[in-house]
Amino acid sequence: MIYLDNAATTKVCREAADAALYAMTEVFGNPSSLHRLGIEAEKLISFSAEMISEALGGQQAEVIFTSGATESSNLAIFGLAENYGRRKKKIVTTAVEHPSVLGPMKKLKEKGYELTVVEPDENGEITEDALVSAVDGDTCLVSAMLVNNETGYILPIERAFSRIKKLYPDCMTHCDCVQGFMKLPIKAKALSADAISLSGHKIYAPKGVGALWIKKGVRVSPTAFGGGQQNGIRPGTESVPLIYAFAKAVETLVPTLSERYGHACKIRDYAVKKLSEAGAVINSRSGGSPYIISVSLPQIRSETLLHFLEQREIYVSSGSACSKGKKSEVLEAFRLSDGIIDSTVRISTSPKTSESDIDALAEGFREASKTLVKTSKIRRI
Ligand code: PLP
Repeated sequence: MIYLDNAATTKVCREAADAALYAMTEVFGNPSSLHRLGIEAEKLISFSAEMISEALGGQQAEVIFTSGATESSNLAIFGLAENYGRRKKKIVTTAVEHPSVLGPMKKLKEKGYELTVVEPDENGEITEDALVSAVDGDTCLVSAMLVNNETGYILPIERAFSRIKKLYPDCMTHCDCVQGFMKLPIKAKALSADAISLSGHKIYAPKGVGALWIKKGVRVSPTAFGGGQQNGIRPGTESVPLIYAFAKAVETLVPTLSERYGHACKIRDYAVKKLSEAGAVINSRSGGSPYIISVSLPQIRSETLLHFLEQREIYVSSGSACSKGKKSEVLEAFRLSDGIIDSTVRISTSPKTSESDIDALAEGFREASKTLVKTSKIRRI
């Protein structure tokens, strides 16, 4: 099997699986219980929060564990607007965000906020200036992602957020770092972020766990009520096994970040060469995340190609797994033509991806061009 859909989800690593099992079978107490078993469970949560905070550079912060990045971003956006948007009613985001950010931003618009959506320019770039100039003294929140999940495009968040914070210190900055965390060297301080969303299952931890990193002193109101856990910001008994597994995945990944990055670059360069030779058009631009390559095989629909490759046990994604069956508005925003969008597949690699995996993929593309284009010609006759 050749798994090239790591931006959709990853296989859980041994360390994370062992950690979950340990927390389920040995440290199984309720972290709110006052007895020894509860205290031990609570210690696993503190260790996990510390691990995630350290992985983001160790700036003083609170780490709130959630069910995933979708919940983290909802909590950040509604929770920050509640505190900082009483008088300032403008909010800013980009057209290439994941639905987990666009959804709550649109909800705030329905509630009366004025929403500005920054579009890529004619070259498909979201510039630092475009982000900064969308914000003014009445803006309470700007939410923009670091790495786009469909193309790997990296937004100029560091420079834009630092300028925004200098100009408007009261404007809250939220960054969806899901596709960058543990792949790029992210430091919360350098990002000038007040809140950062993370997901476990993109980094070899199980599904159903994520985190919201909140800079010390920043106030995020809860969106669910009823318990006092996690300072009341995210009430409900914490999923210790998932949280601990997430932290153990992070602990395993931290020392290998630059090695993995180097490998991803090498594989990306190899794939760009091999897939181009096989007739594919590369949509991802240089300078993006090396872990994600968006490509199109003209005249063959994404889903047709995806299933053709699947027969060869090669797994890729059509655009983004989250936009199943729908034409990608994000690729449209990046100014790709309809023909290209219809035939886009996303390749997302892992440290296990080898050059021979890419050779097999390129061969699959070649065969698809021959077989599928021929089939459609026969149909036309
Ligand atoms: N943000 C980005 C950029 C993503 O790629 C994803 C998942 O595809 C999410 C958010 C949502 O993460 P989760 O599945 O943990 O809710």
